[in-house]
Amino acid sequence: MENCILCLSKKAEDFCRADGYDYLHCNNCDLIYVKPGQRLDPGEEKSRYDLHENDPADERYRNFLSQLYTPLSKKLSPKSFGLDFGSGPGPTLSVMFEEDGHKVNIYDPFYAPDRTVFNEQYDFITTTETAEHLFNPRKEFDLLWSCLKPGGFLGIMTKIGSISGRIP
Ligand SMILES: [Zn+2]
Repeated sequence: MENCILCLSKKAEDFCRADGYDYLHCNNCDLIYVKPGQRLDPGEEKSRYDLHENDPADERYRNFLSQLYTPLSKKLSPKSFGLDFGSGPGPTLSVMFEEDGHKVNIYDPFYAPDRTVFNEQYDFITTTETAEHLFNPRKEFDLLWSCLKPGGFLGIMTKIGSISGRIP
């Protein structure tokens, strides 16, 4: 048994091997993740992200992001202040919210690494196709929660689904 990278319980155990990677499963929170020792190093990681063709002028990419943008934008007050965490090589979701009159900071460890954005308090935080890449999800989510105003929204989307929640 190993410590889970999300809930930190000592209930993660071998789950399966696929595409050359060993996966662990946490019996407490159900997270399934690649064994930490088999992760890509930062250089390999960035060269994969460099291949992402994210472009604010790409309608197909906008449609993909609208799965999170549309439901979340209906909940926001005019001129809200947001953060897009993991904005990638071609920030687009932030542009979509700014077209609506909101102000949005961006953060990305490779493409927009200014960590002073975490000194602010936000009405909403979005993170798309990012949560599944986090090496320390517990630490990163604790950081995001700490940057949300009371009543603020956290919107998360991965390749396979989206969810948005409000903090009390
Ligand atoms: Zn867990």
